[in-house]
Amino acid sequence: MVLATALPSEHVHITPNPITEPFWAAAKERRLVAPQCSACGQFRLPPTPYCPECSSNEVTWTELSGRAEVYSFAVVHGFPGMPDVTLVPVVVDLPDAPGARLVSNIIDIDPTEVTIGMQLSVDFHPIADGWLLPVFRRAD
Ligand SMILES: [Zn+2]
Repeated sequence: MVLATALPSEHVHITPNPITEPFWAAAKERRLVAPQCSACGQFRLPPTPYCPECSSNEVTWTELSGRAEVYSFAVVHGFPGMPDVTLVPVVVDLPDAPGARLVSNIIDIDPTEVTIGMQLSVDFHPIADGWLLPVFRRAD
């Protein structure tokens, strides 16, 4: 049995900008946050300058529980330069942030056990330059 992993930290680089930096700063503190419109309450991920519902640029960074549910996933065997790696890229629904979805990876799981609707919990994996990447594990 091969367990899915995250990409080695040195292979994952991010470039925060003023719109996304609060997400990454929170992740560095092992907190999962999502931007929520201060005017109408709509969550939005990925972070955008304006609310797609009401066009407000006011945002509140709301801390989430870290619970998530598999919306869609893939199983990837091999990556350029890493033929033995197995990845499970995933799109998750966030029950604390209705309407927002996050693209991530599920780690430390047999890929054949992943199902749509599976309950997950967030964890944080080191990436380049001292940042942490939100990833997900099967919830206990
Ligand atoms: Zn809004």
